Parts: sequence; structure tokens; C-alpha cells
Amino acid sequence: RAGFVAIVGRPNVGKSTLLNRVLGEKVAIVSPRPQTTRTRILGVHTAPGLQVAFFDTPGLHRAKGTLNARMVETALTTLSEVDTVLVLVESGTGPNGRVEVGEATSWVIDQAKRSRKPLVLGVSKADRGPKELLLPVIAAYQGLAPWADVVPFSSFSGENVDALLEALARTL
Ligand code: GDP
Ligand code: MG
Repeated sequence: RAGFVAIVGRPNVGKSTLLNRVLGEKVAIVSPRPQTTRTRILGVHTAPGLQVAFFDTPGLHRAKGTLNARMVETALTTLSEVDTVLVLVESGTGPNGRVEVGEATSWVIDQAKRSRKPLVLGVSKADRGPKELLLPVIAAYQGLAPWADVVPFSSFSGENVDALLEALARTL
């Protein structure tokens, strides 16, 4: 299988760290500050039977409100040129343990849905808390995109990164 994947998500959700993990080299810039990723073609992951080229989608990284319509259209054009959209979201819960999908996150998911491409939702930073707290998070995101694979993973520990790649491969 082979194809093109656009990676989208709010700043700091862990896009660059995931790509560095998957691509095995420092091809994307990782920073605690947003907006340091500048390249559009980020790299190609090659494994037996699988080749995935990752694309950046800068116009969908910024928070809602700072966007102008033209930037969004540019980003949506990128989405129209790929096979699959990988949406990264964070694994966190609110202070009371409730899952709160923020407005900026649901905006990104909505834009990804507008592409009408297969979606995979990667729930990043799964190393940060107990596993049972991930279940309501997964359920919440699954509810927003019922047909998508929702895959919790950690780029730090590497857990489930293979499952994320397998979910992408199934769409190609
Ligand atoms: P981007 O803006 O989406 O490209 O996000 P980055 O990859 O630059 O990561 C933003 C911050 O999240 C950095 O401080 C990373 O160290 C941290 N981060 C990224 N992946 C993980 C992870 O798997 N686990 C944890 N705990 N932190 C992570
Ligand atoms: Mg980045």
C-alpha cells in the first residue's frame, strides 16, 4: 500500500514529534511554541508493503479566529490532494475528569470532515495519564467522526504508533 497523508491538528498537539518518531530522523521541527513547522512535504515512511508520504497543512494549525478564509481554502486544497487525513488531537481531560473537546479542536475536525477523505484520529500523548482515562476521550472523538479509526498513541513511549500507521494503511 502507498499513499499521501495530510497531518492536521492544533499547535502543540504533537505533530512534529510523531513525524520524528515515524520517520526516524529530525525532519520536522519540534518546539513547545506553535508554528515552527515550515515545510509542506514532511517526509516519507517506508516499511515492507507500505509507503506513506506525509504532508503539512499549515492553514489548519492555527486557532480559529486568526484564520482568514483564503488560508483555510489553501489548506483545504492540500486536503483535496491527499488520500487520507490524519487528525491529531490531545488525550487530556478537564479538571473534573470530564472530556472537553475545545472549540479549536472541533473546528479542525470539522475542516478535516469537509475534505470527505478517509480520516484517522490520532489521540496523542497517551503516556500522560492512566489508561482508563483514555476510554471516555476515545468515545468522545469517536462520536465526532463515527466512521474514523480513533487511535490513542504516544510518540514518547512509541506505544501504538504502529497501530496508528496500520490504521492509515487500511485507508490506502
Ligand atoms: P506540534 O506543534 O503539533 O508539531 O507539536 P510538537 O511535536 O512540537 O509537540 C508539542 C509539545 O508536546 C512538545 O513539548 C513535545 O515534547 C510534547 N509532546 C509531543 N509528543 C508527546 C508525547 O507523546 N507525550 C508527551 N507527554 N508529550 C509529547
Ligand atoms: Mg510542529
